[in-house]
Amino acid sequence: MRKRALITGLTGQDGSYLAELLFDQGYQVFGLVRRSSSSNLERISHLGSNVEILSGDLLDQSSLMDVITQAQPDEIYNLASQSYVPLSWTQPALTAEYTALGVSRLLESVRRCKPDAKFYQASSSEVFGQPDESPQNEHTAFRPRNPYGVAKAYAHWMTINYRQQYKLFACCGLTYTHESPRRGMEFVFRKITHTVAAIKLGLSNELKLGNLDARRDWCYAKDAVHAMWLMLQQEQPDDYIIASGQTYSVQELVECAFKLVGLNWQDYVIVDSAFYRPNEPMQLVGSIEKIRKNIGWCPQYSFEQLVELMLVHDLKELSSKTI
Ligand code: GDP
Repeated sequence: MRKRALITGLTGQDGSYLAELLFDQGYQVFGLVRRSSSSNLERISHLGSNVEILSGDLLDQSSLMDVITQAQPDEIYNLASQSYVPLSWTQPALTAEYTALGVSRLLESVRRCKPDAKFYQASSSEVFGQPDESPQNEHTAFRPRNPYGVAKAYAHWMTINYRQQYKLFACCGLTYTHESPRRGMEFVFRKITHTVAAIKLGLSNELKLGNLDARRDWCYAKDAVHAMWLMLQQEQPDDYIIASGQTYSVQELVECAFKLVGLNWQDYVIVDSAFYRPNEPMQLVGSIEKIRKNIGWCPQYSFEQLVELMLVHDLKELSSKTI
């Protein structure tokens, strides 16, 4: 019997990579898609009829129950959320509706309609906010510093509570920033590789950035979704940090990208206070000891390889548009 998986957030970066991985493993894949976002299917258009789209919304409990009843999934991956931190300050209540309460509605739907389904919750390093230890591990205290992190902290603990109270096979993966050519331009990694590619091709002549000293633990989204899948293949549900275990600064990223195209970054980068953030978490880096030891996962791609593969993609994409 083919395994069945339901992905929320199918049209996002992680959802599309996970759908590919599951399809390659022989799964029948279902995606929960909001009706309003149905025009946003470009990340999954190559999967064609290999993914069955079901219409539902994390704001609407009955739609979630209908989708779960219809899909009868063995595994559910909740990757949907309002995930852009700056937007969580301008729309804090909507962020909580999707990113926090949406998870309550989903867990409750799983409990009522398919309690034997394995459940993955996309937790985030943003729950650590301004952590009091570095690197963070699965026991580090949560001190979220923005509405998105607060909402993710709620969702994390609800998932653990449903595991303890109702014995659901429910797991949280605490992912750090993960990137790919499918990442939106509003995130700094893609913004940098895309703009550097544009500069290299003579389509732009500057790169405006905020805090160059901000450090992040970046890994490749394909590596991250592999960890998510592995977590649901274990005998026992548990929570894991999914990270690279190393940090690089925005400036190091800039230097690496310009170097790869043979240009001097100082000639193009302009620091613009408009891109600075309030309450910046400075020392977010994950310890991957537990996931390495229990599951045998570690990232396959290095930071430099990730910068290079994204640059190559963006150069190709921009060149094809200008022909
Ligand atoms: P996230 O904060 O981990 O979700 O990812 P981002 O890619 O949005 O931001 C990563 C870091 O880059 C943050 O600490 C930002 O302050 C910093 N940063 C510096 N310049 C920029 C910029 O121009 N855009 C964005 N998005 N982030 C920037």
